[in-house]
Amino acid sequence: MKGICILGATGSIGVSTLDVVTRHADLYNVVALTANKNIDLLYEQCLQHHPEYVVVVDREKALEFTERLKNSPISDIKVLSEVQSLEYVATLDNVDSVMAAIVGAAGLLPSLAAAKAGKIILLANKEALVMSGDIFMQAVSESGAQLLPIDSEHNAIFQCMPAGYKSGNHAKQARRILLTASGGPFREMPIDQMANVTPEQAVAHPNWDMGRKISVDSATMMNKGLEMIEACILFAMKPDQIQVVIHPQSIIHSMVDYIDGTVLAQMGNPDMRVPIAYSMAWPERFESGVEPLNIFDVRRMDFEQPNLERFPCLRLAYKAIDLGGIMPTVLNAANEIAVEAFLNEQIRFTDIPLIIERCMDKFEIKPASTLEIILDIDKQARVLSEQIINELIH
Ligand code: NAD
Ligand code: MG
Repeated sequence: MKGICILGATGSIGVSTLDVVTRHADLYNVVALTANKNIDLLYEQCLQHHPEYVVVVDREKALEFTERLKNSPISDIKVLSEVQSLEYVATLDNVDSVMAAIVGAAGLLPSLAAAKAGKIILLANKEALVMSGDIFMQAVSESGAQLLPIDSEHNAIFQCMPAGYKSGNHAKQARRILLTASGGPFREMPIDQMANVTPEQAVAHPNWDMGRKISVDSATMMNKGLEMIEACILFAMKPDQIQVVIHPQSIIHSMVDYIDGTVLAQMGNPDMRVPIAYSMAWPERFESGVEPLNIFDVRRMDFEQPNLERFPCLRLAYKAIDLGGIMPTVLNAANEIAVEAFLNEQIRFTDIPLIIERCMDKFEIKPASTLEIILDIDKQARVLSEQIINELIH
């Protein structure tokens, strides 16, 4: 039996992970579940999976949760609430695998703690990797942790890599990665109408059912920008070796182009339980609960170049990785603040890239050489982005 800790258990990835765990209860034992605020769902999950620990980051919700556990059949679960508790549960001795599925920069410290502790890290939290690239990969290699990408594209690429491939290495015979993208809900909308889209329209993704932040990122294509940076880090590739390909059907989840002309693609129905089950069973395979792909229903697959005028966020991600150092951290922080402001209806959809670029312009490049620098820059970029938003709306 493997012990698993699920960081972000109440989110879209967390729920899919527990669905896979339920199918393989003979192989996986849930040691810890964490949530920010959603204690109703967490309680249901606890009844079903009976972890040793839960972390509820929101203090008031944690107290309420503790009350709810009293006189329940699961009153022996230990409830923690300090943010540091996330790191504590991610590094427990009886935890073998950590599903890193907290959204945004909040997931950095616990994901990094799991890396330092030599765990098997199932990494969904791409923002953590974008912020801390070199430091994260160094922690993985020093501790001997196994890093398995959950992001469907990176999981696809990992599956198309040579046998025995380990994240962080450069596969010499692979000359290019073709990183697929659905193009999101606004792929064909006239560009001049994009200023008026509402949060509800932006989170309604055509192919994937995901959390609100990543859904907006998919609509701006910042998600693909973050993923391009994620791919450079995970697969030790240069940005010009990564070609973003719009493939609206989301059946191919990415491809690897080899020097002999072979292109390997990984396909399947768009359901995150596929990459989750792959990573949980790795290096074997087991059932994920996903319907077999009916290739006759797919009928056709289309491929297009991304339009950087329509999707300026993708251009900004290329700019951030070209500038290097702290710039991906700035990009990520400014994006998180801008997306939240958009979801709160403070700014327009098309203001998102504007805010990010203005924020990036205010930083001098320096190396992201320590965690302290990264956390400091993250904080500064958030404050600056808030200021830029305030200037914009007043
Ligand atoms: P979500 O919003 O559905 O869930 C986020 C989870 O993080 C929740 O459990 C929430 O309680 C927790 N959380 C939020 N803020 C927190 C904080 N400050 N401290 C601690 N916990 C906090 O998000 P999601 O769609 O499940 O995405 C999770 C991560 O996986 C993101 O990094 C996303 O980019 C990545 N990802 C998601 C998908 C998908 O299909 N949903 C696909 C690929 C990658
Ligand atoms: Mg993805």
